[in-house]
Amino acid sequence: MARKVGSSPGCVVAGRRLDYPSPTTPAVTRVMKANRKTGSKPEVLLRRALHSEGFRFRKNFELRPRGLRVKPDIVFTRRRVVVFVDGCFWHVCPEHGTWPRANQGYWGAKLRRNIERDRLVDVALAESGWRVIRVWEHVPVHDAAAAIRAQLAPITLDSARTS
Ligand SMILES: [Zn+2]
Repeated sequence: MARKVGSSPGCVVAGRRLDYPSPTTPAVTRVMKANRKTGSKPEVLLRRALHSEGFRFRKNFELRPRGLRVKPDIVFTRRRVVVFVDGCFWHVCPEHGTWPRANQGYWGAKLRRNIERDRLVDVALAESGWRVIRVWEHVPVHDAAAAIRAQLAPITLDSARTS
């Protein structure tokens, strides 16, 4: 998934672009290897799981809350719910996130910008009437799907119409 920050368009989630110094911490390497083993990125697996449960949603759907350009991994347009699958390294997950020692200036600034943008995006989306669900990429796909299901369950089209 393309990872862009700052003024660039795009989404908030884990990238595997090759134009950055290699993150070499063991935890990150482990997560990346695990992802490779399944043959699919976490967001792809999650979309597949939700789709097989009958959920319908958009991917690569660009939203522009408060002038920001955001492409969540999953967008439930009618229910106004978005899901981001956040990469453990890029979004500094409490379990696997690390602040690399090598190229500290580069990484420190980059990761801090990522986190700041995540929070900006969360606020902008919430203020525009979207519910934001963030899932760490290390969360097993069935747990992630269950969490999303739980968030979607109380909202039905009927209640949306009558409210
Ligand atoms: Zn993690």
